Amino acid sequence: MKKAMYPGSFDPITLGHIDVIHRAAEMFDELTICVLNNQAKKPLFSVDERVKIIREATSDLDNVVVDSFGGLLIDYAKEKQIHISIRGLRAVTDFEYELQIAQTNRLLSGGDLDTVFLTTSLEYAYLSSSAVKEIAMFGGDISKCVPAFLIDSIYAQYGIKR
Ligand code: ADP
Repeated sequence: MKKAMYPGSFDPITLGHIDVIHRAAEMFDELTICVLNNQAKKPLFSVDERVKIIREATSDLDNVVVDSFGGLLIDYAKEKQIHISIRGLRAVTDFEYELQIAQTNRLLSGGDLDTVFLTTSLEYAYLSSSAVKEIAMFGGDISKCVPAFLIDSIYAQYGIKR
């Protein structure tokens, strides 16, 4: 069985992430989405909330599993026996950061964990979780950025009712 994981903060999940998930889910028998418990960032949604949201956003895909982790990605991969990590590339600016993570993971895992990059679909090239937060904070339109069911709960985090 070909397994892969897609790790990230997903705070919040965007249509760009969902596009990557759909494409990766077609390539592998099982895709595990790992919500990163990154304590350094002050999140919009808790890890448990993000897991729940991503489950809802991917309920149409029966080979997608949603999980969370707080340690080193290579330890998670080893425990789950996953050897491929999926990451998305939007622009050259992502590349340097992503290359560094990919090479570090490969080195730390003794070659056991490789990274597969999917380039963004052009309509989502501009889209990031931080852009969604900045737009939502000021009551801007996020309907082309995130799944419809999530819109109200994002505004609610900023005390905005629409
Ligand atoms: P992290 O905080 O680990 O970078 P993110 O949730 O921001 O996590 O992103 C997870 C992965 O998804 C990263 O590889 C990122 O480059 C990719 N990604 C984010 N937005 C998009 C998008 N619009 N199109 C394609 N890939 C994306």
